[in-house]
Amino acid sequence: MSILIENVSKRFGSFQAVESVNLEIKSGTLVALLGPSGSGKSTLLRLIAGLEAPDSGRIWIGDREVTASSVQSRGIGFVFQHYALFKHMTVRQNVAFGLELRKARANYVRERVEELLDLVQLRGLAERYPSQLSGGQRQRVALARTLAVDPQVLLLDEPFGALDAKVRKELRASLRHLHERVNVTTVFVTHDQEEAMELSDEIVVFNKGRVEQVGTPPDIYDHPATPFVMSFFGPVNVLPNSAGIFGLNNMESTNSHVFLRPHDIVIQTHHEETAAQAKVDRIVHLGWEVIVELSLRDGQLVTVNLTRELFKQLQLEPQQQVYVKPKRAKTFPLHAYS
Ligand code: ATP
Repeated sequence: MSILIENVSKRFGSFQAVESVNLEIKSGTLVALLGPSGSGKSTLLRLIAGLEAPDSGRIWIGDREVTASSVQSRGIGFVFQHYALFKHMTVRQNVAFGLELRKARANYVRERVEELLDLVQLRGLAERYPSQLSGGQRQRVALARTLAVDPQVLLLDEPFGALDAKVRKELRASLRHLHERVNVTTVFVTHDQEEAMELSDEIVVFNKGRVEQVGTPPDIYDHPATPFVMSFFGPVNVLPNSAGIFGLNNMESTNSHVFLRPHDIVIQTHHEETAAQAKVDRIVHLGWEVIVELSLRDGQLVTVNLTRELFKQLQLEPQQQVYVKPKRAKTFPLHAYS
């Protein structure tokens, strides 16, 4: 089922949590709502679920407008960060709960529960109680329980937020796998860029209640639409008022900031017209890569990431004079950066 959000806004008191959001989520895709804390991602998810009502705008699921529909009638499965399993029920009973509530036939319930336990790889733990499971296992039970009733849309709010890094990684893989097998439109909230990049078909980047950009992970990484998006996806050097410093035509406007990723800068020991002179301030060895901190002639600081091999070839020393030039750079007008 596709989801269409048309000009949706939501205010809490005087605080604008979601502002004029337009968004189309294609049927069967896995989409991340990504942004810093308080940017409005969870509110949008709750608006899709019907747990909040928009102040203005409209929401469609498939070809049905659901703006005023109840949560129950939207055909949505919801998984929160804090899995709320029934403590007094076994894994099997938890997964069967929704089906039994709907008075499904016993045979069907048995088969469906087996199938779902297979899907989330918990077949061997079916008779355990939640207290006998790890956090990651509990979250997989929550997923299976939600999927049991065949939701048309699966909404997940920071589903792995409370878990440690290793378990999060495992669960990401199992969510992707699950999504592919179940063919449900899945929308999940995260503030973790890597999680969004690894899992999703499309990422919706949120900032201050608004959508900054929608795109595939490579699209967003390689073609960030705004300074916020570029800075949110990994480290970046921001050189204010430095357009033209590298002598490149497309950077000649002085009313821009130049944005350079640390691995998109070349260090060389010989001068060239498009390279800027710099001094090596500090060298940090991280094992698999080397970080070189430099200062440009005008005092601006630049960080460059080099592979170990490249660093060895260059034989850099602190205080050495070198030349730097961008492999790739983005310029944004001054007023776009805040
Ligand atoms: P996080 O990653 O921290 O969960 P988020 O991007 O999901 O952040 P939301 O939970 O959507 O952000 O909240 C957006 C803003 O709206 C926050 O400043 C929050 O305090 C506020 N907010 C959310 N729900 C309510 C509510 N029921 N009443 C008042 N303010 C709220």
